[in-house]
Amino acid sequence: MAESTNGAAAPGINGRAYQVTDHTYDVLVVGAGGAGLRAVVGCSEAGLRTACVTKVFPTRSHTVAAQGGVAASLANMGEDKWEWHMYDTVKGSDWLGDQDAIEYLVRNAPAAVYELEHWGVPFSRTEDGKIYQRPFGGMTTHFGKGTAQRTCAAADRTGHAMLHTLYGAALKHKAEFFIEYFAIDLIMDEDGRCCGIVALKMDDGTLHRFRANLTILATGGYGRAYFSATSAHTCTGDGGGMVLRAGLPLQDMEFVQFHPTGIYGSGCLITEGSRGEGGYLTNSEGERFMERYAPSAKDLASRDVVSRSMTMEIREGRGVGKNKDHIFLHLDHLDPAILHERLPGISESARIFAGVDVTREPIPVIPTVHYNMGGIPTNYHGEVLNKVGGDPDKVVPGLMAIGEAACVSVHGANRLGSNSLIDLVVFGRAAALRAAELVRPGEKQRELPADGGELALSRLDRFRNASGDTPTAELRGNMQRVMQNNCAVFRTGEVLEEGHTLIHDVFKASSNIRVSDRSLVWNSDLIETLEYDNLIAQAVVTMDSALNRKESRGAHAREDFPDRDDVNWMKHTLAYIDTASGEVKLEDRPVHTYTLSNDIQYIEPKKRVY
Ligand SMILES: Cc1cc2nc3c(=O)[nH]c(=O)nc-3n(C[C@H](O)[C@H](O)[C@H](O)COP(=O)(O)OP(=O)(O)OC[C@H]3O[C@@H](n4cnc5c(N)ncnc54)[C@H](O)[C@@H]3O)c2cc1C
Repeated sequence: MAESTNGAAAPGINGRAYQVTDHTYDVLVVGAGGAGLRAVVGCSEAGLRTACVTKVFPTRSHTVAAQGGVAASLANMGEDKWEWHMYDTVKGSDWLGDQDAIEYLVRNAPAAVYELEHWGVPFSRTEDGKIYQRPFGGMTTHFGKGTAQRTCAAADRTGHAMLHTLYGAALKHKAEFFIEYFAIDLIMDEDGRCCGIVALKMDDGTLHRFRANLTILATGGYGRAYFSATSAHTCTGDGGGMVLRAGLPLQDMEFVQFHPTGIYGSGCLITEGSRGEGGYLTNSEGERFMERYAPSAKDLASRDVVSRSMTMEIREGRGVGKNKDHIFLHLDHLDPAILHERLPGISESARIFAGVDVTREPIPVIPTVHYNMGGIPTNYHGEVLNKVGGDPDKVVPGLMAIGEAACVSVHGANRLGSNSLIDLVVFGRAAALRAAELVRPGEKQRELPADGGELALSRLDRFRNASGDTPTAELRGNMQRVMQNNCAVFRTGEVLEEGHTLIHDVFKASSNIRVSDRSLVWNSDLIETLEYDNLIAQAVVTMDSALNRKESRGAHAREDFPDRDDVNWMKHTLAYIDTASGEVKLEDRPVHTYTLSNDIQYIEPKKRVY
């Protein structure tokens, strides 16, 4: 352990003293999913002393569950170019993505995939031994005219293969892992610089102060703000919560992606790769209804389009099942050998979670919360941004964010399938490259503020001793139901107004929270409460951002404002919250309507049809 001083003087909080162990590193990465691990490898390679703090064992991060694949224009199975990938990503984003960042993503994508291959990711192969690539929603050739085969896959377990390989690569270097440490809060100094974090070691209840010249948040999404989500129970957006408490904004939080095919009932994901391999959706009349909504892309239209079409079918009484409240996904016409080779994982999921044999029967599916386009605003180097004075792109010193926790923004209003896994490795690498420019190995650390860690310790102490009337689980359930009912696939002013009242009520009721277990050792009640506190702040800003945006764009579909309005709304939302009162302040940031290089022109907005 680098420069740790065990049992350093403990700040006394509320008359209670906590023993705190200090650690010092050049760079601290919080999170060991695909993004965090890629940054760890890069920072270590640059000779920076790097620590990685993670609340779950690295290979249990949600990245492990990614199925379908990772996008890059390798052109292994047909013609492809990064320019087409760029066009698709801009169009997928409904022109809310920053085009400089998108150019950076798609141009660096092929090298990032080959790097993964060389590190040992066991990709599926074509006959002639190249990386296998499947079609995915919204991925086209010739600027929307043909179907691209761009999504590199390791069967339907791509995330599993990537995460295990990345962990192996990280272990080859000297990075130190602090596993099952729960990061509570950032340490910010008077100049607004991030100096590190405070974490709770969950198995023995000890507290740790990590000091670093650079802190990289890679804490994943906050899907669990909703009742039904494909994401793991650990996807509670802890980094976003920390950022909000530090008085910094989150960006574009109204854009929540619903995946068309979560298994009805359990929410477990059936990859879009299943439609890439030829699967299709039907309604109660047995009709392939996507042909009506997206005549050319059909079942492979973008996710927001397919989710809305399914919801329309259900609303108009053509849903399947006893309650006519879901849709069928057919794979039963596909060759069982293909299913076995390319989609073994989802065949198993369908059997376990829906009791269905995919070679004979359709899978019952429903749109399910899947991904957060919104997050911590950053530039394409991963540096966190705040709007200060007239400058909307002011860098917050000492702080970076990458992966689903961040909003670069490459996904804009809607992410294309397989564009997240590539975002993790491209921007994980970019952050490490920038870290090597900003921090010298062993460079002197700044003085910690006198009250460094106070925010984290007082918050921990408050929740540990919370003796209100409402258990965390009840508040969490209330939050999840409000988000599911009032901030879903279709939105109206009325429904959002009601949601605004209801979610702020849940926020206020949270001051009366009850934690029953007072210990610090493996206190899951306490950890879930800290997670809930992170979720509710993000639920509130999500609802308020959605109420504020009076147009339809990407995943944000307002029935009262059905059209995209580029004149008034082609801008990012920035949301700040006063975490004591729950009061939200909304600002905006211009979309970057310029590219990174002269190799490609700015892609002008047009109507988004598939
Ligand atoms: C079921 C499913 C399938 C998907 N399939 C695909 C796909 O095929 N292709 C694609 O491109 N995308 C896919 N996605 C999306 C993609 O997998 C995720 O967006 C991505 O994996 C997120 O990676 P990450 O590194 O940002 O975070 P995660 O993998 O979620 O990791 C977060 C890390 O942060 C740590 N952490 C969080 N909070 C704390 C804290 N308080 N203290 C310490 N550590 C903390 C966790 O321990 C964990 O290590 C899928 C998502 C799901 C849910």
